Amino acid sequence: MEEQPTLLVRDPLVPWKKEGDTFSLTEKDGTQTKMQIMKVENAVTLAKEFGFNLQRDIPAYYLNTAPSKTANGAYVDRLDALLFYSGTSEITKRHEIIHAIEFRQEVTQELKTFFEKIKDIFPDGIEKDGLTFFNYRKDIHEFIADGYTHPLFISVLKEHNLYDEFLAVTKYLNVFI
Ligand SMILES: [Zn+2]
Repeated sequence: MEEQPTLLVRDPLVPWKKEGDTFSLTEKDGTQTKMQIMKVENAVTLAKEFGFNLQRDIPAYYLNTAPSKTANGAYVDRLDALLFYSGTSEITKRHEIIHAIEFRQEVTQELKTFFEKIKDIFPDGIEKDGLTFFNYRKDIHEFIADGYTHPLFISVLKEHNLYDEFLAVTKYLNVFI
């Protein structure tokens, strides 16, 4: 039986920042990065180009510097915004858009069970072609985003005949247009 999605509405709409605005982001290790917004785009437009179904208008901020030392893009829940900079790869943009889509929908029990089932199939921290593609083990959000966007992770899921099941248990998120 399909579970019904629940949209988690935590905050009123976050006002959009504009070109030229600056703000800072604190990383997990406590360091702060100060960034300036060079360009603002509606993330819905970008999502459509990728075939993804983002159902609310949120900003994609293009910054003068990378939003994080450890990643070259981000979805920030507090701002309900995507953060990119000139060096952000397309795969990262896709990944962060999936976060924007999935983050505010309640994870179903079925998906949790599936995640727990496959979490330990793969060893931790394996690298392939210079990429640590088992980012998905960190939490269910990374699992969803990598499952929809990471070519290596998708190929591993397919090798293990798990990809169709992944799509089935995440279907309620309505990721594709
Ligand atoms: Zn992520």
